Amino acid sequence: MEDKVPSGRGEFKPVEIPPATFEAGSLFRKIGEVTAFKIHTGSNITDARRAFMEKAKIVVIGAGIVGLAIAAKLSELNDGVLVLEKNKKHGQETSSHNSGVIHSGIHYPNGSLKAMLCVGGNSMIYETCRRYGLPYKRLGKLTVATGETEIRELERLMKMGEGNGVDGLRMLDGNEVSRMEPNIHVERALYTPSTGILEPDDLMQHFLGRINENGASVSLETEVTGLKSTGSDYEISGVSSNTNFTIRADTVINCAGLNADRVAAMVGLDVDKLGYRQHYYKGDYFRITGKAPVNMLVYPVPKGAGLGIHLTPDMAGSVKMGPNAYPVKMIDYRVESSEEEFRKDVQRFLPSISNRTIQPDSSGIRPKLNGSEGGFADFVIRHEADRDLFGFINLIGIESPGLTSSPAIAEYVSEIYENEIRT
Ligand SMILES: Cc1cc2nc3c(=O)[nH]c(=O)nc-3n(C[C@H](O)[C@H](O)[C@H](O)COP(=O)(O)OP(=O)(O)OC[C@H]3O[C@@H](n4cnc5c(N)ncnc54)[C@H](O)[C@@H]3O)c2cc1C
Repeated sequence: MEDKVPSGRGEFKPVEIPPATFEAGSLFRKIGEVTAFKIHTGSNITDARRAFMEKAKIVVIGAGIVGLAIAAKLSELNDGVLVLEKNKKHGQETSSHNSGVIHSGIHYPNGSLKAMLCVGGNSMIYETCRRYGLPYKRLGKLTVATGETEIRELERLMKMGEGNGVDGLRMLDGNEVSRMEPNIHVERALYTPSTGILEPDDLMQHFLGRINENGASVSLETEVTGLKSTGSDYEISGVSSNTNFTIRADTVINCAGLNADRVAAMVGLDVDKLGYRQHYYKGDYFRITGKAPVNMLVYPVPKGAGLGIHLTPDMAGSVKMGPNAYPVKMIDYRVESSEEEFRKDVQRFLPSISNRTIQPDSSGIRPKLNGSEGGFADFVIRHEADRDLFGFINLIGIESPGLTSSPAIAEYVSEIYENEIRT
């Protein structure tokens, strides 16, 4: 399908997104001695388009937003792109357990991958939304401060944001903040106009549509449990719809999110020595019932392992508080935090929270690289050719701003592929 770009000022025609139909599981069959994929890319087995594959050119492990963005991008120029996903549906893990915020890029050190890919991803997402008619709201964000220490931190964030190329940053005093958000009471705020929100599944559906259009495949209920280099390519094994499978691929891209360190270990990398061990940090959300107390995103200055409990309107106009950040060992999405912790944190900038009803809402789990030591850890996006793994690309520690960065991560990985791997 041809992209229809807005042809003039104010004139905008959304492009129809092709239906993304990757619901059915995968089957395998023996072709001679080789176990081959029979991939269903239809909404059910009867109407599915089927492809048989003994060897893929590129296998992407994980159909979260990052794996999907990468597969969509790589399949523009390459045949034989296959995404393997262990769950029954794409995006059931971190990509659907987050704030849905299109971050601006003020929080990450100058020159880091997080800064570069967040700022790049921010404008790419808005461009994609405008071009293809995906719903979004560019609400703007206030990062609020009370007291000297927090104000100094705001100034640091502003400088860092400007260094990262974030446009339109402005420091506001308490009166200006109250004019924008009458329920917020603080001394200062950093205004970030480019922060916004979208429904993450809309973006994932968009990537699925591109994957479909480009003739690439997504195999659901397909868990990778073994991965080894043969020297000339990779042998990937696992279980798909209760059937064991083996497939070979020239290139493997590890987008396994919370399992990315395990997948890296499968191929023989020493994840502890390389600093690839991921630590789970959970974040819970509560929802403020009734009328939204704010129109914009409102964040405190960051503290601890997350960005601080903030107020995020969603696309339906209701406001979520969260996420907090605490270490966990298991993936369990039940909300475990106390209402009191949330009220106390938010009360500092939204005093009226004491009169509002709040309800446990949802949670997400971050794959953090720095664990209990804290501090900044960048995304790891690395072609491991110098570790005897030519054609193996790792993506580890893809926590926030991974959603915002996803289209820019896809460009970045595509450049690695085209410049270093493709023959
Ligand atoms: C609480 C919270 C709030 C956040 N808020 C924001 C935000 O507002 N804005 C933002 O930009 N970012 C945010 N993020 C970060 C963002 O959600 C993630 O960076 C992003 O979703 C990561 O996507 P992913 O595709 O790497 O991982 P995932 O979504 O986890 O996808 C990985 C996929 O790999 C599959 N998989 C794993 N192992 C295997 C295997 N062995 N075989 C086959 N498949 C496998 C999984 O089933 C999963 O579907 C937030 C994160 C959290 C936790």
